[in-house]
Amino acid sequence: MAMEATLILIKPDGLKKSLTGNILTRLSETKLEIVAAKMVRVSHALAAVHYQHLKEKPFFEDVLQYLMGEYHDRRKVMALVYYGEGAAVKCRALAGATNPEEADPVSIRGSYGRITTRGVYENCIHVSANVADADREIKLWFQPDEIIVDLYPTQIVVETVEKRSWT
Ligand code: UDP
Ligand code: MG
Repeated sequence: MAMEATLILIKPDGLKKSLTGNILTRLSETKLEIVAAKMVRVSHALAAVHYQHLKEKPFFEDVLQYLMGEYHDRRKVMALVYYGEGAAVKCRALAGATNPEEADPVSIRGSYGRITTRGVYENCIHVSANVADADREIKLWFQPDEIIVDLYPTQIVVETVEKRSWT
């Protein structure tokens, strides 16, 4: 199996239900390496690009609001990159099917997910569907220096920006 990276998001329902530890313990069964991790406040724009493949769906805006944390009073997600042999397939298998009612009951989504009365699948976790999606999504959520291995080609860009620093 090839060395791959995949994006994991612990969604706002996973954070609110205090499932971070359980989910990371389940993912540790893969023996993959965590090469990046951070908490992210998700903007509407970031959510929309992340879920761009759902743009024509009637539930698109609901899914964006869900990822932004508007339904859970938790305006953040935990984003991680898992790296190793067959990372995309291994993590996807542990996550289970998109619809938590159809997911294997012992998968993460099968164990902890639910379908809301609005019809949104609150499935606690995002896992890139395949390596191509993973590459796109990791570049969307992380900058090169936030990942402790070199996953993709980079370039040096010189820019003058104002940034906050510790006083
Ligand atoms: N989703 C939903 N209803 C659907 C399809 C998707 O609520 O009929 C939500 C669900 O939270 C899912 C996310 O939109 O995880 C992204 O959908 P996708 O088809 O990419 O599924 P995933 O890759 O997350 O399994
Ligand atoms: Mg998907």
